[in-house]
Amino acid sequence: MDISQINAIGRTAWEVAALRAAESERPDRLFTDPYAALFLDAAGIPMEPDPAKQDLVAILGEQAAVRTRFLDETLLAAGCRQAVLVASGMDSRAYRLEWPAGTEVFELDQEPVLRFKQEVMVAHPARAVHHPVDVDLRADWPPLLRQAGFRPDEPTAWLAEGLLYALDAGAADGLLDAITGLSAPGSVLAFDHVQDSAALRAALTRISPGLAALWQSGPIDPEDWLRGHGWTPEVSELAQVANSYGRGVHPAYDPATEGAAHSWLARATRT
Ligand code: SAM
Repeated sequence: MDISQINAIGRTAWEVAALRAAESERPDRLFTDPYAALFLDAAGIPMEPDPAKQDLVAILGEQAAVRTRFLDETLLAAGCRQAVLVASGMDSRAYRLEWPAGTEVFELDQEPVLRFKQEVMVAHPARAVHHPVDVDLRADWPPLLRQAGFRPDEPTAWLAEGLLYALDAGAADGLLDAITGLSAPGSVLAFDHVQDSAALRAALTRISPGLAALWQSGPIDPEDWLRGHGWTPEVSELAQVANSYGRGVHPAYDPATEGAAHSWLARATRT
């Protein structure tokens, strides 16, 4: 399947799939995502990253592995019977996780990205009641989610993975306002966020200046950001979570390195 017509931000979904496919092959893997390699294969993308991507893989490979495990655990522990995967890309959680019986999983992304995934997954049943919803997250998407059957009176497990660094601070506020407006008490929001750093910018620029330009600030301080919108946050440094799984992080994001940038993993509850 040809993904060359999908826009640059959309194609980043396959970059993350490549990191998950690589992790799934490790003997000490933190999770197994058997579908990540299928997505690459269907798009004609080789498993081996090209040399220009090696710096980025070194920085984000562990981040993607640790965040996937952390976010898997957070979504299942939330105990909600409704989940929304915002900007789901090649996330296979609707097919991969053992959701409680009857859980409804909504996936929001651009239409061509969702269509690709559905075509690849046609022979693989979802493990939840599955609702792909095509949206432009910069537009008024909550009515589309409601039309797809989303119930705002039900506690929801929300996921915004691999997304916040593509938004500026204002757009991140707008997204959280929309999520908050749809979140009944007991809802849980989980996300990762990575602060810009010289190492990251150099690695992105080495691949393409266009990719580097996609990187925005996102929320400046995730804990304040969540509190300010009425959520009770629990924000960890990636290094802390990685260590708890027996993994390390790139020096650019290791608090033990002087001048290291932040890489956060967050979960928050709406009370
Ligand atoms: N959450 C997935 C993961 O971690 O594997 C995908 C992350 S990928 C880096 C970013 C995703 O955001 C892409 O699938 C892209 O299509 C989606 N996206 C970015 N901007 C969007 C927008 N304005 N509307 C809908 N989807 C968008």
